[in-house]
Amino acid sequence: MTTLVEARGLCAGYEGVPVVRDLDLTVAPGEVVALLGPNGAGKTTTLLTLAGDLRPVSGTVLVDGHPSRAPLHRRAAAGLALVPEERSVFKGQTTAENLRVGRCDVGQALALFPELKAKLKTTAGLLSGGEQQMLTLARALARGPRLLLADELSLGLAPLVVARLLRAVRAAADSGVGVLLVEQHVSQVLKVADRAYLLRRGRVEMSGTADELRSRLTDVEDSYLAGRTTGDAPPTPAR
Ligand code: ATP
Repeated sequence: MTTLVEARGLCAGYEGVPVVRDLDLTVAPGEVVALLGPNGAGKTTTLLTLAGDLRPVSGTVLVDGHPSRAPLHRRAAAGLALVPEERSVFKGQTTAENLRVGRCDVGQALALFPELKAKLKTTAGLLSGGEQQMLTLARALARGPRLLLADELSLGLAPLVVARLLRAVRAAADSGVGVLLVEQHVSQVLKVADRAYLLRRGRVEMSGTADELRSRLTDVEDSYLAGRTTGDAPPTPAR
């Protein structure tokens, strides 16, 4: 099957200096792929490079099986939805106004998150963090994307809300959307993911099916702890 997005030998970073190195990664239609790793591992950098928001330092990003250097807005027009780390609701506008932005199908958004029906007239800035994130995800999914790239949907949210968001993501994948999820809630995301990659210091340290990573949860958690240790050896220099 053709992949929706693929990294081949990708080095990604800033101003020509890689922080992610030699990355091979694929996302196919209908699968949820988790991108895990401690703070600073390079997850956001990877996501933004796959989205076309950052230029690769070297290596290739393939979209629908073809090398692509198209910027984010062109990829978005071709079916990419990017949910960045910062909550992206328009805080001064109501929930209804937020849903009417862009190509969002409001009926579909409310079908995905019926919780938002009672909040349509509420100013988005007054919604709870979880409701704001439901609104963000509803808006992204109700545009009918083929590929969803989402960065820490669950940041700062309670476990029940996280589970709700992840269920919606799983349902989208079950209807054919390919999903790449950057997540810190490892055990929760591995419940909905098909596969996962664990990044540490810009390199893939572990990858496999969600079942495989779940069976190595202690190793995964150790990697998080090692990634956070301040006395660590310096990162591998750029080649
Ligand atoms: P977190 O979980 O904390 O969000 P992350 O795994 O998403 O971390 P990145 O945000 O991709 O990690 O950062 C990877 C490395 O790139 C870090 O060392 C970070 O300091 C560096 N970095 C991030 N953004 C920039 C930037 N705009 N310019 C230069 N370096 C950056």
